Amino acid sequence: MRAPAVAPIDSRPRIMTAMPRGSIRRFGRIASALCLVWMSAAAQAEERLPLFDAHMHYNVEARSLLSPKQVVDLWRKTGIRGVLATSRPNDGTLDLMALKAPDIQIVPFLRPYRVQPDRHDWFSSTGVAEYVEKELQRGIYRGIGEFHIFGKDADAPYMARIARLAKERGLWLHAHSDEDAVERILRHAPGVKLIWAHTGMSTPLDKVEQMFEQYPNIVGELSYRGDLEQDGTLNPRWKQLLMKYPNRFVVGTDTWITPRWGEVENLAAFYRRMLGALPRDVAERIAYRNGMEIFGLQ
Ligand SMILES: [Zn+2]
Repeated sequence: MRAPAVAPIDSRPRIMTAMPRGSIRRFGRIASALCLVWMSAAAQAEERLPLFDAHMHYNVEARSLLSPKQVVDLWRKTGIRGVLATSRPNDGTLDLMALKAPDIQIVPFLRPYRVQPDRHDWFSSTGVAEYVEKELQRGIYRGIGEFHIFGKDADAPYMARIARLAKERGLWLHAHSDEDAVERILRHAPGVKLIWAHTGMSTPLDKVEQMFEQYPNIVGELSYRGDLEQDGTLNPRWKQLLMKYPNRFVVGTDTWITPRWGEVENLAAFYRRMLGALPRDVAERIAYRNGMEIFGLQ
């Protein structure tokens, strides 16, 4: 940016005409420097990818430490503009929604957990079934999860029931599962829409690719995939997958334990760095647009 051109004598603003020559030059230099600062701040703001956090829990333990307002402020500071919210119990999600933050989209998912131990046997607990039934009556949820289920447990009649119910009602599932359980779930309700938490976490990438080919309704969420980067840059095999399916991956913080809330800004920086190795349009999709579009938010 050049220094602002000096206006012709008769149209100079008063302050300029009142200044000696040296002052005018100094003024020009300062204005020019300010202009550069402003431009680089604007460029940084433009460069910072907005994020849609597709894996967030505002669990009861975190609620005693962070108020809903503090959570929303953290998202603002971090550039998180949309959130797939799932909390144990669901009150955490309701509290966040009650703030009605105009600049943060909250997509509520029904979590089938009342207390932490439900995670292990929710699919065979009558108490959980009653809780889920009651929560469904709110009519606000866009999906069910995150739930944990592995291997043959996914053949439990209640898992099959939830999968079919989700398909009938157009709800998403958010499953923390191994590939075996995902395939069992999809057999209960072929075509049900499923966000695969952690994209299997350690599922071999050839298997992930095969599943993405076979099941077009799977979306992979990337938290805790320890192999995303190699030597501080995007793993080439991952790059291949993300480029092949740019519409089918989302990022998440997974604040499953309270200390993880202290990592949210680092996680956002990690995703931005990792996605920086992709073309901007693909990076934007994975960082933000996919999450928004899946839920019809843009
Ligand atoms: Zn989680």
